[in-house]
Amino acid sequence: MKKVIPFLALALIVVACNNSKEKENPNNSNEEMNSTENPLLSESTLPYGAPDFSKIKDENFQPAMIEGIAQQKKAVEAIANSEEEPTFNNTVLALEKSGELLNRSSQIFYSLAGSNTNETLQAVEEEMAPKFAAQRDMIYLNEKLFQRFKTLYEKKETLNLDAESLKLLEEYYEDFEIAGANLSADDKEKLKEYNSKIATLTTKFGKTLLDANNTGAVTFTNKEDLAGVDEDFLKSKESKDGKGWTIPLQNTTQQPLLQSMDNRASREKLFKAAWHRADQGANDTREIIKELVEVRAQKAQLLGFKNYAEWSLQKTMAKTPENVNKFFSGLIPAATAKAQAESDEIQKMIKSKGENFTLEPWDWNYYAEMVRKEKYDLDENQIKPYFELNNVLEKGVFYAANKLYGITYKERTDIPVYQEDVKVYELFEENGDALGLFYTDYFARPSKSGGAWMDNFVTQSKLYNKKPVIYNVLNIPKPAGNEPVLLTYDEVSTMFHEFGHALHGFFANQQYPSLSGTAVSRDFVEFPSQFNENWALYPDVLKNYALHYKTGEQIPQALIDKIKNSATFNQGYSLTENLAASNLDIQWHTISADKKIEDVNAFEKDALNRTKLDAVHAVPPRYRSTYFSHIFAGGYGAGYYSYLWTEMLHHDAYNWFETHGGLTRENGQRFRDMILSRGNTLELEKMYKDWRGSDPKIEPMLKARGLK
Ligand SMILES: [Zn+2]
Repeated sequence: MKKVIPFLALALIVVACNNSKEKENPNNSNEEMNSTENPLLSESTLPYGAPDFSKIKDENFQPAMIEGIAQQKKAVEAIANSEEEPTFNNTVLALEKSGELLNRSSQIFYSLAGSNTNETLQAVEEEMAPKFAAQRDMIYLNEKLFQRFKTLYEKKETLNLDAESLKLLEEYYEDFEIAGANLSADDKEKLKEYNSKIATLTTKFGKTLLDANNTGAVTFTNKEDLAGVDEDFLKSKESKDGKGWTIPLQNTTQQPLLQSMDNRASREKLFKAAWHRADQGANDTREIIKELVEVRAQKAQLLGFKNYAEWSLQKTMAKTPENVNKFFSGLIPAATAKAQAESDEIQKMIKSKGENFTLEPWDWNYYAEMVRKEKYDLDENQIKPYFELNNVLEKGVFYAANKLYGITYKERTDIPVYQEDVKVYELFEENGDALGLFYTDYFARPSKSGGAWMDNFVTQSKLYNKKPVIYNVLNIPKPAGNEPVLLTYDEVSTMFHEFGHALHGFFANQQYPSLSGTAVSRDFVEFPSQFNENWALYPDVLKNYALHYKTGEQIPQALIDKIKNSATFNQGYSLTENLAASNLDIQWHTISADKKIEDVNAFEKDALNRTKLDAVHAVPPRYRSTYFSHIFAGGYGAGYYSYLWTEMLHHDAYNWFETHGGLTRENGQRFRDMILSRGNTLELEKMYKDWRGSDPKIEPMLKARGLK
């Protein structure tokens, strides 16, 4: 995952403004504005401008960000109100330079808010969210500022700009356009109304769904009904009165417990509770969906687009909903054919157990688990001794990067860290030149959000003469005492993944920070990271790092085969359920403004039927519309396809390497020169095609999933 700080992704957050808190906060005093008191107000003097965590205190963040907001506001007003004719330097470049303090302090703040938070930081986060939203409006709804950009944009060909500067102008102009700056005063008012309605509806969807998830939890009073379920788990779910067990619902359609519940009626009960959690009763989300898709369609129409997806895909690699649908159509036949074969195999398994019922969605994971044990059994305890953390990082992740890109590393113990488990490495080019600083924060702790991500403390840019300072965060359980840290294969793969994002940031070679490194669209940003996962199982790399932590012996081939083989288990199901959800997302967001949806369930049924994604009866969508929070409460409206899209890119890219000699310096350099170093300076589709020699194909992805 690539983390995005809220200033760059304001559409994703909806937090109610709370001014009263601000007054109560004693840290808001003027003393903090003094740079001798607040280390964030001046540039760090550490190597690479790395944040000086030996000096930064929690109470420094809010005053620094508020000062940053004020400085940027002053700069923006000066640009907008300038009497001079607009030029690239006095307008575009001036805006690019306007947020230096704000960016510097918020980058450090949001890193800690994600990986090492506490009540103080949480309170600051909540207070700052509406201020960041207002800051964005201050820029993108500033009419005078927009007119200066428009003047420049309309004569962009005559400005003699270098390619990157031209791209910067275009990006800013498009952001103004997307925000509605080109509308008449009346239409701007309408847009504000739509935006506020959308914000209200997405918040309402999120709240209603939360209630639906909570009240949807299923209580069992008879222990026999829960046969097969882990005892420790059950203990933690005992009701307070001791008279039963309450099983909470997970976000997805399938529930984890369905894999182990022996009792078929119980499975059906749990599944149906998940399926119907939000299409009936007090927590029905269907009216919200109807209104939301309608307002989104109206907003798109106001901005001159046929539908919401068309509007929201403008700056992506896929570009149009038609391209996304074409991508889906290529995958659907292979996915559903494999799902059908899996369904047949499971039906056989049911029969072999002496049962004669027809496979239903609530049976799938229970019997698929039996198939997995029989055909793909991979025992994590057998493989973990070969995946010791330091070996994986230094002899695996760094080794692969050395073979491909020539980079080397040295641990730096002199750079202050924000938590004792964090380590810092300095990375170097092949010729010994400095590349940047790399922080690893790998262990789980209560102050850290779940998952794994990468981001920058300092973004590369020639404008500020900055080399990147980058961190990777994972959530690996920390063993007690001096026990070795042994990883699951999943954790190994995640380390390679996050370092793939890091490479995208380290190789950035941009003039402007806002175009640097990972500042690309959602359907591209996960490509370098997923691509880097491929090297984890590459024979030369694996031989180098997968060494038994006690004996030093290499991982046996039989175990490697098991890891590879297990990657194809249940992939027909998994791809079909994902495609079904992705397809629902696109269909909901390609409705035109004049179309009224009467019945949400009927729309959903028809959407799946038209695309033949309902071909295998026992494979439901990963999310139904009524609990699809990514698209109706989060920021993924018309964007859920991105996961599958980048999966296509990375397999297709790896296929190029496989057919061109694999892990070589030459191949790595070419990939670095044409992809990893380019940031957001080129049109992504063209960037990819120039490197690959053709458009991306779906065949390598289908092969990797075992569907071909
Ligand atoms: Zn990622």
